Amino acid sequence: MNKEELNNLLKKGRALLHYNVSTFEQFKAGIEAVKETKIPLIIGVSEGERNYFGINYIEDLIDEAKEQGIKVFLNADHCKSINSAKEAIDYKFDFVLFDGSELNLQENILRTKKVVEYRNKKNKNTLIEGEIGYLTGHSDIEGIIELKEEYFTDPEIAEEFVKKTKVDLLAISVGNVHGIPKGVKIKGKLVEKPKLDFKRIKEIKEKVKVPLVLHGGSGLNKKDYLKAIENGISIIHINTEFRNIWKKELEKSLKKESIVPYKILNPVVKKITKKIIFYQKLFWLG
Ligand SMILES: [Zn+2]
Repeated sequence: MNKEELNNLLKKGRALLHYNVSTFEQFKAGIEAVKETKIPLIIGVSEGERNYFGINYIEDLIDEAKEQGIKVFLNADHCKSINSAKEAIDYKFDFVLFDGSELNLQENILRTKKVVEYRNKKNKNTLIEGEIGYLTGHSDIEGIIELKEEYFTDPEIAEEFVKKTKVDLLAISVGNVHGIPKGVKIKGKLVEKPKLDFKRIKEIKEKVKVPLVLHGGSGLNKKDYLKAIENGISIIHINTEFRNIWKKELEKSLKKESIVPYKILNPVVKKITKKIIFYQKLFWLG
């Protein structure tokens, strides 16, 4: 995917769903969903997920789907090292997220820039996403998460970051968290669910011209998603919710007598497919 292709794609709808896979049935669910909706979909693999799946195997599966005319794209989610980002560029992923958000700003800029330069040299058809502001939590079951003011993306710093690194997309921290926490502490106050700072999304969007990515979308409500899109979000990541469905459905299915893997796994695929379709339609059509 190159910049022009992404811009053209984003003109056709409102926002894209990104979800993660580490098993074949999760991948299959995405393919089934796109066959039905005809809405483009981004499939992500984190470092752990692609190590488990095999980076070459997932890339081949996505390529094969593309050849069949199915609109799926592959993202190397949260590359923490320059080397893992380079590897995904070499494998011609559509997107690579270099996540330097835990580094200080100068180091984040420096390393992200190196990834962009490598891409420029090696393969123009991979888009680079940078991350600025700190995203807490991880895509698993969580307890209470604390959100501090300093975690949030500063619009001016976002502008400086994009200008200096020349990233194609930007992941921001605006009250979103990875995972589905049991509660969120914001400025010392405990609330039930993460609360998005829509005003901040809008301010960032006005400062940077690249598409904005919202990570940690699991557990928000319909209104939040639509408002986030309205204020400038182009891609929404949902992971934990799909992992939950995967586990729950698998447990249910395993209770049946069968030992035939495809009979056990098919209900899992169906349930995930249904949820992907739901989010795709919500994000893309509004
Ligand atoms: Zn993420």
